[in-house]
Amino acid sequence: MRAAFSHRERREAIERVAREPRQFDLCIVGGGVTGAAIARDAALRGWSVLLVEKNDFASGTSSRSSKLVHGGVRYLENYEFGLVAEATRERARLWKLAPQLVTPLAFLFPAYRDSRLPLWLLECGLWLYDALAAFRTPSLHRLYLRARTLREEPKLRADGLKGAIFYWDGMTDDALLTLANAIDAHEHGAVMLPRVSFTRAEWNAAVPTEASAAHTLHFRDELGGRDFTAQARLVVFATGPWSDEILPATPLKRRKLMAPTRGSHIVVPATKLPAKHAIVMTHPKDGRVLFTIPWDDMTIIGTTDLFDSESPDRVAATNEEVQYLLDASRHYFPDCPLTTGDVVSTWSGLRPLLAPPQDASEAEVSREHHIEWSAPGCLIIAGGKLTTHREMAEQAIERLYEETSHWARIPANAYSPTATDTRPLPVLAPRGESSEPRLGVSKGARLSLNDVRRICREEMVLTLEDLLVRRTHIFYKEPQNGWTLLEQLRPVLCEELGWDAAEWERQKAAYRAYLEKNILKPLARTLA
Ligand code: FAD
Repeated sequence: MRAAFSHRERREAIERVAREPRQFDLCIVGGGVTGAAIARDAALRGWSVLLVEKNDFASGTSSRSSKLVHGGVRYLENYEFGLVAEATRERARLWKLAPQLVTPLAFLFPAYRDSRLPLWLLECGLWLYDALAAFRTPSLHRLYLRARTLREEPKLRADGLKGAIFYWDGMTDDALLTLANAIDAHEHGAVMLPRVSFTRAEWNAAVPTEASAAHTLHFRDELGGRDFTAQARLVVFATGPWSDEILPATPLKRRKLMAPTRGSHIVVPATKLPAKHAIVMTHPKDGRVLFTIPWDDMTIIGTTDLFDSESPDRVAATNEEVQYLLDASRHYFPDCPLTTGDVVSTWSGLRPLLAPPQDASEAEVSREHHIEWSAPGCLIIAGGKLTTHREMAEQAIERLYEETSHWARIPANAYSPTATDTRPLPVLAPRGESSEPRLGVSKGARLSLNDVRRICREEMVLTLEDLLVRRTHIFYKEPQNGWTLLEQLRPVLCEELGWDAAEWERQKAAYRAYLEKNILKPLARTLA
């Protein structure tokens, strides 16, 4: 059993930070996969680290991805060979270092008579893909002719089918991958504070020259409602699509960094859309690439890609996006005519993409990441991919070493190399392995109440939404998105999280609001 990481440790840590005049080497703002990986890397090198996340770990983009750990076959079309090589290298590393969280996923890329990319060209592309991955893949890609393709995926549209390319990429649980980074950082001494917002900073120009100088950072505890401060010599903003909102609080001169695009997904039961492989589709209306992805007893369809200037706090799928995704699936799987009524859940996120050249389309915007430094001690990191989070974190810390090498006092006093390239990620609490009675009917709810208890104690559950959306798949896979399981969960959650009857009602209302935004509105549905 691992060390406790729960609401109690969080409350005590806030009290300690607010009370003690401790100076951190590094404060990270943002607890998505980038921030959590930076905290882990720095803590493993012996730095003293504080991370604040205004919501839950991974509640931003890092739980709203397509959940693929992949090189990105389609980036080959934009000649982003460096990105593909980096991402496939990290993919192989994650298969090895986090086998419980990142597993190989078999793909089929079908080609039709009227496809923009003919079978022979796809095959060339996949040779390049395997080569850029230095052939670190469970097996090389294979070409299937029409008959074999239909044997493998009998529901796939047969009309005009020429064949398909079989290849491997990876699948993960993005929220738990982020959490595993956060837990490892915590176990190596980092102070990890979810539901604490960074509000402003007083930048101290003397930091580079005076060994005892530090910046003063202001925070708000979003649960306790209290404001407090901490001192740090370096600050990293890993705020994904929130980066432009945060820029005015930094010493950076830039005023715009991001051009986020919204990507939405829908989830349907695998009985309605059975697929053994992830299938690469091109949308019949606009030729965009999207996927169906098998996910236990469900199938994911996604994603859309639309420039979006809304605040990332408000992002949600729209009914038009749901219809667009259903159109693609009905085109590729004509014998599985899905309707809105088949959709169990949706999610939507903003890709933290870097502002593009003026005339670029959404799909052409680079998935590369960007690291920008500004004296006297601020670094902003944005863009990139879930897949490359470890390498991005390593580069961020190396950059901090570089920028501070002439300082009166550098973090942790000496250079030390990263440990994250060989160190396995921690294994999280097992889900659904005991023989005790299970909560719901879907695989996403194959949990006992004892599993829930352990998740609360070891994985920093602070709200009902944390548990149902990001620690388990109940929201995504269970009928009624788990709404009918709440009374079963109530005694355990109230006991573990110290909630009284009034707090339980508040939690239920907040989850209801989450369902309103992500299910009821986009699917034009009411809660039974
Ligand atoms: P985020 O996860 O957004 O984290 C930023 C955090 O900062 C947020 O949690 C936010 O709450 C916090 N924050 C903001 N302001 C403050 C503040 N004032 N105080 C404290 N905290 C603050 N990548 C892949 O590799 N594979 C994929 O399949 C894939 N699919 C994708 C599909 C979609 C639709 C999208 C949107 C992205 C996809 N990505 C994928 C990209 C990947 O998800 C992102 O690159 C990655 O999650 C970004 O992580 P991040 O930590 O930089 O940002």
